[in-house]
Amino acid sequence: MNLDNPLEKVPGIGPKFQEKLKRMGIKTIEDLLFHFPHRYEDFSNVKNILGVKINEQNCVSGKILEIKNSRTWKKKMILTQAVIEDKSGAIKAIWFNQPYLINTLKQGDKVCLTGKVTLGDNQLYLSNPSYEKIADIESQIPKKSSISNIGLIHTGRIVPIYPETEGLSSRWFRYILKPLLREFKNKIPEILPQKIIRRYNLLPRNEAIWQIHFPTSMEKAKRAKERFSFEELFLIELSVLKERLKLNKEKAPVLPLKVNIIKKFVNALPFHLTDAQRKCAWQILKDLGKSRPMSRLLQGDVGSGKTVVAVMAILNSIQEGWQAAFMAPTEILAKQHFKEVSKLLKPFKIRIALLTGKEDKIVSQKLGRVTNSGIIPEILEISRNKLLEKTRKGEIEILIGTHTLIQDKVKFKNLALCVIDEQHRFGVEQRAKLAARGTDAEQKRGINAEIKIPHLLSMTATPIPRSLALTIYGDLDLSILNEMPKGRKKIITKVIPPEERKKAYDFIRKRVKKGEQVFVICPRIEGGNKNQEPENKRREILSWADVKAVKEEYEKLSKKIFPELKVAMLHGRMKVKEKEKIMKEFRAKKIDILVSTSVVEVGIDIPKATIMFIEGAERFGLSQLHQFRGRVGRSDLQSYCFLFTDSPAKKTRQRLKALLRAKDGFELAQKDLEIRGPGAFYGVRQWGIPDLAMENLKNLSLIEKTRESAKEILLLDPTLAEFPFLKGGLKKFKEKIHLE
Ligand code: ADP
Ligand code: MG
Repeated sequence: MNLDNPLEKVPGIGPKFQEKLKRMGIKTIEDLLFHFPHRYEDFSNVKNILGVKINEQNCVSGKILEIKNSRTWKKKMILTQAVIEDKSGAIKAIWFNQPYLINTLKQGDKVCLTGKVTLGDNQLYLSNPSYEKIADIESQIPKKSSISNIGLIHTGRIVPIYPETEGLSSRWFRYILKPLLREFKNKIPEILPQKIIRRYNLLPRNEAIWQIHFPTSMEKAKRAKERFSFEELFLIELSVLKERLKLNKEKAPVLPLKVNIIKKFVNALPFHLTDAQRKCAWQILKDLGKSRPMSRLLQGDVGSGKTVVAVMAILNSIQEGWQAAFMAPTEILAKQHFKEVSKLLKPFKIRIALLTGKEDKIVSQKLGRVTNSGIIPEILEISRNKLLEKTRKGEIEILIGTHTLIQDKVKFKNLALCVIDEQHRFGVEQRAKLAARGTDAEQKRGINAEIKIPHLLSMTATPIPRSLALTIYGDLDLSILNEMPKGRKKIITKVIPPEERKKAYDFIRKRVKKGEQVFVICPRIEGGNKNQEPENKRREILSWADVKAVKEEYEKLSKKIFPELKVAMLHGRMKVKEKEKIMKEFRAKKIDILVSTSVVEVGIDIPKATIMFIEGAERFGLSQLHQFRGRVGRSDLQSYCFLFTDSPAKKTRQRLKALLRAKDGFELAQKDLEIRGPGAFYGVRQWGIPDLAMENLKNLSLIEKTRESAKEILLLDPTLAEFPFLKGGLKKFKEKIHLE
């Protein structure tokens, strides 16, 4: 057998199990060996039956005196009862609904049992114990203390517990893995360079793989885990750093700084740029002047003014026939950007177009819109085909849109810059596809011998904690807008107890009378259906059925609470047209209160909205709540964020209070990382990062060590020619994960 062999080669794994494993992403023997337990139970201490402790896990070994099945009085459950005896005494064991056990465990068998000792009917019994027959190997046991060395796998030792997925039990994994590990003993290639192993005193791979599954001590289990944590993070670092090296070799259009144009732009702005905006714009403009493709992430809280910075980059890019693409995650946002960019670039003669989404297919005539602000600053509507043709010919300099931009039909003549707003909303592939637009067109036309790839500017309002910036975002350069435009008032944030709800409604009424507007955010669309419950929900969180649903809330607010006000509803399942109509009306102040799901999370700008009312706040991450809050406070009016929670848990309230104190989104992102783990960050789960690395994505010191090590190795040997096993391991690793 060979590590790359498919599961079919493993004895004992039939087609049904193969199928289950495949669904878990386990396809080869190697995958199976690297399916690690998530915890252990220490049953290594075999006790005398006389010495068992009540209400604790105990491991005993002895002979089965009798074993039989019986039914409970209601005849609903089958009990398997056995009596086990050792030198010191006897104890009962009871299993529930496992009648087949009597086919395996027979009177006279020597077994090792591990389970909780419970008191019932005045006698102690082992409840649902794990079991293992030791009769066959008993002769080899010199003393009970060394049982763990002679091959027990389910009891009498430190026992691995695997995440139970697809109905595959830990018992099953142990049963399959033990012989496999024997087969591959000392045959697992070491992929980490020796000097790294020595420097950090890591367990060698062969030993670690054994110890992580069947540890001889908890200490060894810990060290095995450390070794693989190091390995996984090291591979992540190698991937991202290699990606950077690769980029260094690529060629992008060199776009020198056009000082006069940028000055003209800045002077025409109705406000002064913040220092942070200047600094970030400068970093970006400097990158654009280099032939190395920029790959930069602009981070900044909601409202910190990222768009203006992006527009400066765009303006500097579209010189000498180059084009720029600006991709937003939603139609609403793409349209907003189109308007904003058109307005900001009014003083320049630039052709800007908006390519919108789904509805295009239906109404094929009035889709693309082009402004030619050089002539008249009003929007001309042209057909979609015309728009695409103009883009292909380079007659449109800035194309703004949603995912539509990455369709094959869209071809640029000379794409110099891709800007991606709210980048965490897009998959890596979508981003790569957009970046590939430019090359594609050129290749086809065969004009430029040398392929230029466009510069990439991503933007996000979700701050990224440092540990993530150094790992999964490690191939991006970062620019941070850590300053808000002047004159913004701090948003007053409050967690509202149930008894003050009415007061909060009165407050809303008063504000609306003054011409201000309100968002009400609910965690989901409809009430009721329990089937929609997400899998990994945490226990402290209430069931979905209890959650304020958009529709119900809308009914309640529009009919009972605010019959005199204009209330509307917005959610992701509405048609694009409907959503737009609502947003338009909200912006035009024809709507006072907008009840919505998290669709308003990203970038919508409604200056008169001053109250953000969040129901079921415990459902959202702190970063996400912070984003919602950023929807208000966009003008000089005092704004408010009211949080409601139905969760009685003290922890929830404490977590929400962090929102009151934190000075910026970074602090909240760090807290999210600590409380909810890296999985709470948008998209992180989709990257397919292995569990140990995932667990360690907040372990800054380990991350720094692995990063240094990866740098050192790449500096020494950029192609990893001297480390063939590492190279192979890295290749496999990259096939599994999708990093930024
Ligand atoms: P975000 O970073 O959330 O994308 P936007 O770019 O949408 O923020 O900017 C939010 C609002 O702030 C816009 O209306 C924009 O015109 C305005 N703005 C941007 N920069 C400044 C500034 N330096 N001073 C005042 N207002 C600004
Ligand atoms: Mg924005």
